[in-house]
Amino acid sequence: MIMSERLSDELIDEIRASADIVDVISEYVQLKKKGRNYFGLCPFHGENTPSFSVAPDKQIFHCFGCGAGGNVFSFLMDIDGLSFIEAVQKIAERTGKDIPALSVQTDHASPKTEKEKQLFDLHELLNKFYHHLLVNTKEGQKAYLYLENRGISKDAIDTFQIGYAPGSWDFVKNYLEKKGFSHSIIEESGIIVKSTQGDRTFDRFRNRIMFPIHDHSGNTVAFSGRVMETDGNEPKFLNSPETPIFKKGNIFYNFHRARPEIRKKDACILFEGYADVISAFHAGIKHGIATMGTSLSDEHIKILKRNVSTAVLCFDSDDAGVEATYRAGRLLEANGITVLAASIPNQLDPDEFIRQYGGERFQTEVVDRSQTFMSFKLSYLRRGKNLMNEGERLLYIEEVLKEISKQSSAIEKDHYLRQLANEFSLSLEALKEQEKQYSIQQDKSLRKQQKVMPQQISTFSKKEKKLAPAYVTAEKMLLSHMLQNDQLVWEIQKLLQNQTFNIDEHQAIFTYLAAYYEEGNSPDVSQFLDFIKDQSIKRLVTEISLIQIQEELTEPELNDYIMQVLKQKKLLMIKEKEREEREAESSKDYVKAARIAMEILQLRKTL
Ligand SMILES: [Zn+2]
Repeated sequence: MIMSERLSDELIDEIRASADIVDVISEYVQLKKKGRNYFGLCPFHGENTPSFSVAPDKQIFHCFGCGAGGNVFSFLMDIDGLSFIEAVQKIAERTGKDIPALSVQTDHASPKTEKEKQLFDLHELLNKFYHHLLVNTKEGQKAYLYLENRGISKDAIDTFQIGYAPGSWDFVKNYLEKKGFSHSIIEESGIIVKSTQGDRTFDRFRNRIMFPIHDHSGNTVAFSGRVMETDGNEPKFLNSPETPIFKKGNIFYNFHRARPEIRKKDACILFEGYADVISAFHAGIKHGIATMGTSLSDEHIKILKRNVSTAVLCFDSDDAGVEATYRAGRLLEANGITVLAASIPNQLDPDEFIRQYGGERFQTEVVDRSQTFMSFKLSYLRRGKNLMNEGERLLYIEEVLKEISKQSSAIEKDHYLRQLANEFSLSLEALKEQEKQYSIQQDKSLRKQQKVMPQQISTFSKKEKKLAPAYVTAEKMLLSHMLQNDQLVWEIQKLLQNQTFNIDEHQAIFTYLAAYYEEGNSPDVSQFLDFIKDQSIKRLVTEISLIQIQEELTEPELNDYIMQVLKQKKLLMIKEKEREEREAESSKDYVKAARIAMEILQLRKTL
């Protein structure tokens, strides 16, 4: 078995320190020095005034516009869609550092278990093997011609690492065993299947075109095999089963390649199939992704929310595609993502359209002409209704009014109400009145929902840029000082008297930082960033580390911050007690209510 060597933390630190982040970023962004830092136009979101900054003293970057940030490795991962190890390799190559051969390095920042590591290795190896079979062997030739006939170029085959699984029952199984993988790992990978009778196992993918599926760091984690000609008995696409390294609902096809473009455009195109993604990519439209043939999961939505404000839905133009657009659109819209619906002329699939008319026309005639989700819904609701029939017409108008009442923009509301009034020769006033009724109902049910589901608190969402309360600023200031001074961590821990920070993300940074210093590391933001796994926490760290602070934290300043943090804790406690008091009162337990009232009084005194 080919063993993949891991890089030691020391070596990674050394490689990071060997490159200047300003030099590396300068190759992608025009930077201008202003004071201590450099500024430029952010490569991750469209902007006209520079809000992207690079701090050479801390060796980090941060965008005040979109919140992107990190060290030199994160920059390369984001902009080039590299995995962590690939980013390390790229820097090592630049600076001429010698690193151990990483031929089948699975380039995963830190696979959790030995089993996962082996699964990554197996998929990586098999990916190369399938690709080799397609491109270089006689058996693969038929599949190669098939792809060529379908307009998939050599370039696309290489970029997307498309491969071929031979029509044998045990070829791949034998290959993997020869390479030293244990039977249990091969079985766990889902590459082989147990036969229904007996213990016999055989290759899952036979005589299929193989599309490797990558996780968002670019590791091959699964395969999707497509038949070339189907006799109706075989499914058109066959996917790897879920494994410890592959969860369908967590992955978008092509996400790791599309990410830089997605971040730049603040938008993505959601396709139905791999072929659409591949065709679009090679026609120059690089922010296309697709689910693994499933509908959008909660995790998918979370990923999109972190990365885009707009999603263009570009599904097939058949009935199933229209239904899928409606469902996905509603889900995305409910989660605050702006939805656009593209429709493709002549009942074509995106892939077919691009092959017939090219990428440029796809951009101008399909993507650029996407309609708002509201106008998509209008035509969706109209489907199958005979508007000449009075009953159906009224039903349609009612449904449309309900949709309009969900719009948040008054201008949009007005626009669609007028459109409706014109089309059916109705009084605009009457429609407005009816719409208002629906709006009120809407608000009521929304408020009910919010009572049941506590609102998720996000401290660093793009949309909330209000003035932060004092305790938030205090926690940030404390963290900012702790990033520069390890001794402070212990001092602040003591001062907080076993209390935590109010903001969960701040507490997470605090905990990471304590662990980081405990391992004997010294203050170094850039190094610390590699210590953190969570992307959004990383961003928050870069943001906090760029707060302008004095070198020294004075005693009064420190005490003031601590006081703010603890005060907020007490305020929350008081609120909770007030609630208990009301409960006690309403259940006529006046003794209890009085006792709680006293406790509240005591707490208030300490504020
Ligand atoms: Zn930005």
